[in-house]
Amino acid sequence: MPDTLQGIGVSPGLAAGLVVRMGPPPSLPAPRPVADPDKEVAVAVSALETVESGLRERAGAATGEAADILEALAMIAADPTLRQDAETRIRAGADAAHALRETFDGHREALAALGGYLAERAADLDDLANRAIAAALGLPMPGVPSPGHPFILVADDLAPADTAALDPSSVLALVTERGGPTSHTAILARSLGLPAVVGCGGALDLPDGVAATVDGTTGEVRAGVDEQEVAEVRARAAVERSRLEEGRGPGLTSDGHAVDLMVNIGSAADLAGVDLSDVAGVGLFRTEFLFLDRHDAPGLDEQVAAYAEAFRLFERGTIVVRTLDAGADKPLPFLGLPEEPNPALGVRGLRVARDRPEVLDTQLQAIALAAAETAADVWVMAPMVSTAPEAAGFAARARGFGLSTAGVMIEVPAAALRAGRFLDVVDFLSIGTNDLSQYTLAADRQTGGLADLLDPWQPALLQLIAGCAEAGKDSGRSVGVCGEAAADPLLAPVLVGLGITKLSMSPRGLPAVRAGLAAHSLADCRRLAGRALDAGDAAEARAAVLAETT
Ligand code: PEP
Ligand code: MG
Repeated sequence: MPDTLQGIGVSPGLAAGLVVRMGPPPSLPAPRPVADPDKEVAVAVSALETVESGLRERAGAATGEAADILEALAMIAADPTLRQDAETRIRAGADAAHALRETFDGHREALAALGGYLAERAADLDDLANRAIAAALGLPMPGVPSPGHPFILVADDLAPADTAALDPSSVLALVTERGGPTSHTAILARSLGLPAVVGCGGALDLPDGVAATVDGTTGEVRAGVDEQEVAEVRARAAVERSRLEEGRGPGLTSDGHAVDLMVNIGSAADLAGVDLSDVAGVGLFRTEFLFLDRHDAPGLDEQVAAYAEAFRLFERGTIVVRTLDAGADKPLPFLGLPEEPNPALGVRGLRVARDRPEVLDTQLQAIALAAAETAADVWVMAPMVSTAPEAAGFAARARGFGLSTAGVMIEVPAAALRAGRFLDVVDFLSIGTNDLSQYTLAADRQTGGLADLLDPWQPALLQLIAGCAEAGKDSGRSVGVCGEAAADPLLAPVLVGLGITKLSMSPRGLPAVRAGLAAHSLADCRRLAGRALDAGDAAEARAAVLAETT
């Protein structure tokens, strides 16, 4: 009898094959006395160089976001302060492996103390430390295995370097014991088009080489399946893939109700290689990329050039630009924001403009100038807005710079509850389900252990979405979803049934969502939405909808 494990399906698709677990991190042997410190320093330096060159090699073989992540990690490995720190520790008596461990631990603590986005980068340092220690000890590199055949990768959680190194032609699916719907693993799996299940308890107990099936929609993993089941699932997966590849055109339900399908981007580079012919526009242009990792704000000209580059790629359809979403999970050092005990509840998003209005004004001016240089229909919206007067203030500012279509993101329950009032003062709403789930369910989006609460199928979240959509209908204004929830093909008909008119997601998610909508009439969507709203929790909601659609 196969074992059935249940996790959260975060990237749709079916896969069947053999399980291979991720190589374990090296364990440190007992410290040993150092006879020749110079030789020991050479071992540590060479280990760091091996890690750096390995990452650069993988960056060269990768493309897009994956290549950027690997290149950034190689730069960290090449940081001379790591070498100096390791050398100091060796000269004080540590062997190379322990000196590296302590060096990375020190840097990790410093990063973790900064909180938010930089604290998340601490996981990158763990990954680099494990690689450097393995190199110093002459052990095989930990990380994604290469068994020589396609496989289902099972891991505790995946570090960015691992996910960036994944080769979708040899990895059939991802299953992780930890992680949630908005985790790095989930986002990358969706952008690679790999089926993925996260938060899957017991996954690490699966033995290497066991045959398993993975359903990235339902979150079900069946281990110990026979050859016939493997063959059946592969056949279903092939049919599903060709069905998706054939799908074209705008988003429509089976009875012709139109839903705008749009893409989320972080920079112009994200649109490279994307077939934009069937896309209604960019539903979320995250602008933080310009501001990350720097100690001063980008100037007006630099911003105009970056925005215009993206706008030029999309001179047909709408492009919705989100103003800077600084703070909490996206700390930006140049703002010099004071430390806060609860950053997610502190000064973030639009709230930054309370003390630093010039940052928002420069950005709005840059967006307006870039829009004027191109033919794109540019809309602008603010993140983390809580009250209607805040929304009105933002819209007035944007219009003051000549940006005629101004809206806000709905990420705070208070805003969702007052969506009607918001629509009296702004032109559109875009629901950020990643943050709206975090604040509605009071569950930190950076904590993998609370994945079930952050699940966008939570009926409380769906109820807030329904309220916003209703307000949109009453006012005749657009209400879309641009959080990760929009990329779930099973949830898409539910969102449309709740009254959502735009879904914006990573480009890879489009075919499955298009197909998900085409399989249902608007009346079906409304019935499915009712089922999901009636459920007790996310798992029940998903199960109720699945039962009606399969
Ligand atoms: C969201 O919160 O859903 C969203 C789209 O914004 P981000 O993930 O960038 O916070
Ligand atoms: Mg958000």
